[in-house]
Formats: sequence, structure tokens, C-alpha cells
Amino acid sequence: MSIESASVSLISLGCSKNEVDSEEMLGILHKDGFVVDHTSSPATVAGGTRVVIINTCSFIESARQESMDTIRAALQRKRAGEIDKVIVTGCLPQRYRDDLAAELPDVDAFMGTGTTHSISSVVLDALANRPPAVKADLKPHHQWLNVPSRVRKGSPWSAYLKISEGCDHACTFCSIPSFRGKHVSKPEEMVLAEARMLAEQGAVELNLIAQDSTQYGHDLYGEFRLAHLLKALSTVDGIQWIRLFYCYPSRVNDRIIDALANTPKVLPYIDMPLQHADDAVLRRMRRPMSGEAYLALVDRIRKASPQAAIRTTFIVGFPGETDDEFENLLSFTKQARFDRVGAFTYSVEEGTPSANLPGRVAHEVQIERRNRLMETQQGISLERNQLWVGTEMDALVEGRAPRDFTMAVARTFRDAPEVDGQVYVRTCMARPGTFVKVRITEARPYDLIASPVNAADMRLAMKLNLATMS
Ligand code: SF4
Repeated sequence: MSIESASVSLISLGCSKNEVDSEEMLGILHKDGFVVDHTSSPATVAGGTRVVIINTCSFIESARQESMDTIRAALQRKRAGEIDKVIVTGCLPQRYRDDLAAELPDVDAFMGTGTTHSISSVVLDALANRPPAVKADLKPHHQWLNVPSRVRKGSPWSAYLKISEGCDHACTFCSIPSFRGKHVSKPEEMVLAEARMLAEQGAVELNLIAQDSTQYGHDLYGEFRLAHLLKALSTVDGIQWIRLFYCYPSRVNDRIIDALANTPKVLPYIDMPLQHADDAVLRRMRRPMSGEAYLALVDRIRKASPQAAIRTTFIVGFPGETDDEFENLLSFTKQARFDRVGAFTYSVEEGTPSANLPGRVAHEVQIERRNRLMETQQGISLERNQLWVGTEMDALVEGRAPRDFTMAVARTFRDAPEVDGQVYVRTCMARPGTFVKVRITEARPYDLIASPVNAADMRLAMKLNLATMS
């Protein structure tokens, strides 16, 4: 077998942004003649695979631990002679460069976050036994691929689309800017070309991601151009849903709010991590605005788009968070009535300003606060879900319910993939990746129950399918 046709398996860890990098790397390798696939862990790497790439995450301690465990498991398979080469890419080598190379001498090459375009030469060097490469510039400057190229991992009908990389903010708890670098927008024509390619590969839903999607365009065009980009994307044939993630609250302007409310295909859905809502904690986090200003923003979004689904995330147990400050967050959550909330306990990140702040909150207190916040939100999520009972909605079918073959699992515009709830559609045999019109019959805290509006057709489809299977 020639080196160029060697088989390469990739394990992608961490967030959706890493997943896009992983798909791009496999896309490049595939174009260069390698046989490629995604796999979930070293244990599932297929026999005969010559190279395993682990695209790592180093966001918080638990993610680093998972990355290190995965690398060590892959090195074990290498020592057993089942794999020729192990290559480590992504945030971990970007952040820990030389330390990592010293700690893991059996790894054949390391590659940081700004150099994914050179993956083929890194793999070729490793296969040719050239000395271990460490490609991780201290300050990564992201280079976008000239030609969109991705080997997709998840469902073909729903794709992440990265519109920028890096972040210019300085939240005191966050290490991301130190290893992902400054904000770099992907030129609009490249975003559109990638959207067209994803549509040709079968995507009907685009999920726009970045560290801060609201900063899109400023470095390239001298103005914030997210609203403009949303409108341009809505012209791409085949795409039916465009969903927006990672909005920085102070940059959610009227143009974005208007685009969410009035642009065809752009869903009235917004993910806007607020992190906290007590003013003193926000100052310590070096985050903008205030709890009151956040409430006004939520109000503006709902006035423009009354059905809008708003998702946010909070960190509880930030250094110095007092009982009163936490109670302020709780009462803010009750007032804002978000559709979805994710809550995380504060994690100390070395090198960040908050690591040196006094007043560490005990782990048990952090857990107790997170549980209280999520219990409070559970009731609110249920109420928000109940508003949809009796209405008709479009739902994108994802698959079948595990214990009931006649029930489809789907998502409406309110449900982002992987992080939000689902809709269970009774007596529905529609194919995954297709849209069905459903009537919501029941609400639960996270999920909805529905029936197809065209029930007669669905029952017929079910009978036909069952007859074909018997
Ligand atoms: S905006 Fe997000 S990525 Fe940027 S520093 Fe703050 S938390 Fe980190």
C-alpha cells in the first residue's frame, strides 16, 4: 500500500467547532488520496488503520483529562502493533506545545489549531518516519481552506458551519482566546461556498458557530456583518433552516434581531450565553451589560419575534459569588423565562485572571446552586413548552424512538441538535432528514409529544413500511 492511500481514522473530542475542524482535516486527507473515517475511540479503530488522529479539547480540566486518556489508549494500541502512527491535533497541543511533546514522546506529531490545512504533510512525514513534528504557533492565526472540503460526521441533513475563529473578548474565567487566538472571520464568499457544498451533500439545516458569532465581519469589512451574512445564506438552495449560536449579548443589535424575525429560513432561535446576571459578578467576569440590560434585550427579541426560542448558559460558583448574588441570578432566570438554560459549575483555569480571585466557592455549594438553578428552570421550560400544545409546527425527523418503532424522534425550530429537547411524533414513519407537519399534543420539561397533522397518510406509510419489512 502506498503512503498516500494509507487509512486514517480520526477521533474528534470537544465542541462543535472542533468537530468542524475534524471534518475539514478528513476532507483534506480524502482529497489527497488517503482512506479516511471518523471513529469514536481508540477501541473502535478498524483493523488495518495506519494512522489515528486525535483532535483534542482543552477547555476545562475534565476535557483535558478525556483528551489525555484517549491519547494514552491510542498509544497502547500503537505499542501492541495495531496502529502505526498517533497524531495529536487541536487545542491541547496548541495550549501545551512543548510540555505535551515531552510528556508523550511516543506521539508521532502534534499540530495546533491554526494549521489544520497542513494535515496531509504532517501525516506523510509521520508515515515516512521523519522526526516528530510540533506545529503549534504560539499565537495561532487561522487559515481558511481555499476549497471547502469536509468529510461529515453526524447526520447529513444537519451541519455546523463555522463562520469565524478566535475571540477578542477577555472574560476572566476563559482560556479560549489564549489558544484559539484573535477573532478571524471567514470571508463571506467562502462561507457561502461551504453552505452550498453542505447543501449538495444533503444538509437542510445549517447551525452557525463561532466563539462569538456577533463579531462576524468586523476584521474583514470594518463593520459587524452577521445580519448581512444571515440574509445571504438564506438564498442558498436546499437549505431550509439556519440557526444561530454563540451570540455575545452586547452585540445583539437591531439588525440581528430583525434578521431573526424576518429573514426566510433564519429560525427565530438564538443562543446567547450570558454566564451570569448579577451585576457585581458580571463585573468580576469582565462581561458587559447588567441583569437589567439583559432583561431589556430579551424583551426586544421577544417583541420582534414573539415565538423566539432563547437559549443561554450560566456559570455558578464563580469566585466570590455570595448567596445574594446567586439569588439575583435565580430571580433573573424567573423573570427572563428562557426557553433553554445550560448551567455549569465554575472551573479554575490556570493562566486566567479569575484563577487568582479570592473567595473560591466550595464544590458542594457549586453543585447545590447548579441544581437549584436547573430545578427552577425546569418549571419555566415546562411552561414555555406548554405554550405550544395544540399548535402545528414543522419538525425535522431525526430517527425512530428507541422503544417504539412507530414513533419518530424529531426537532422543531426550538430544538437545536445535541443540546435541546426533542419532539416525539406518534404514528409517524417519515424518513430521517425530512420535514413533517405535526400537532403538539403534550408538553414535558424538555421534550414535546406530537402527532402528524396528516395522520391518515402517516398510518398508511406505516402499514406499507411494516408490510415491506415482514
Ligand atoms: S466571549 Fe466566550 S470565548 Fe470569548 S473570552 Fe468570553 S467566554 Fe471566552
